[in-house]
Amino acid sequence: MESEGELVKTERRLEVLQRLGRSLFGSGLDLLYPPTCLDCGAPIATADALCSGCFGKLRPITAPYCPRLGVPFQHDLGPGALSAEAIAEPPPFERARSAVLYNEVARAVVSRMKYGDRPELAMFCARLMHRAGHDLWGADAVLVPVPLNRWRQFGRRYNQSTELARALGRLTGIALEPSLVRRHRNTRQQVGLTREARHRNVAGAFAAHPDLVGRLRGRRVILVDDVITTGSTIAAITRTLTKAGVDKVDVISFARVVVGQETTT
Ligand SMILES: [Zn+2]
Repeated sequence: MESEGELVKTERRLEVLQRLGRSLFGSGLDLLYPPTCLDCGAPIATADALCSGCFGKLRPITAPYCPRLGVPFQHDLGPGALSAEAIAEPPPFERARSAVLYNEVARAVVSRMKYGDRPELAMFCARLMHRAGHDLWGADAVLVPVPLNRWRQFGRRYNQSTELARALGRLTGIALEPSLVRRHRNTRQQVGLTREARHRNVAGAFAAHPDLVGRLRGRRVILVDDVITTGSTIAAITRTLTKAGVDKVDVISFARVVVGQETTT
């Protein structure tokens, strides 16, 4: 782990140098410091994000999947069939969709996006989310990023969900409302908590903008997140929005943790 940490530091130093170089000398410095795959570090032709080998390790979530939770099915259960999870505990949102399963490569993408030093990453993820959420896009919708708490936002300089929402807005033409929900209380990590504890942890953590109903005028909210882990956060935000007068909430994320498939957190 020590050497991995050192490697990350070295990579980060290289990137800082690259960015400094680009700002001083323009993109000509790409010749000296070609863009690299953020997972394996191999040089790549364009400053996208992953080499073709690592891109191939992403696991896109495609049909068949649960129409409510968006979790993939092993077998096609027929049109409209819900997952056992969605039947046992119906989510407050209408539909959740995610581009890929949360695995090692997806984790590398998400963690680098959080530092904000690869600005092209949000668009890379948004392109995959655009495809995965094809049945969500419509002129009646508005994109709302899942808010970070202030302390985290300060540490990371920006909210990666806002960057994803902005990129999705460019691809879909759907308007962005980044200040519709705010987090007014910090929450613990949800992973490892029981269902009741998760519910308590996020209950009352979010607040809707007081002008919400007027600003939305009956439009549907699409929440944008980087990773859906347990789903408790998006459920809590949905409840907050519903209480404030929003009729319908859908969710789109880049990655989704699916227990038993690929990796867990
Ligand atoms: Zn690679």
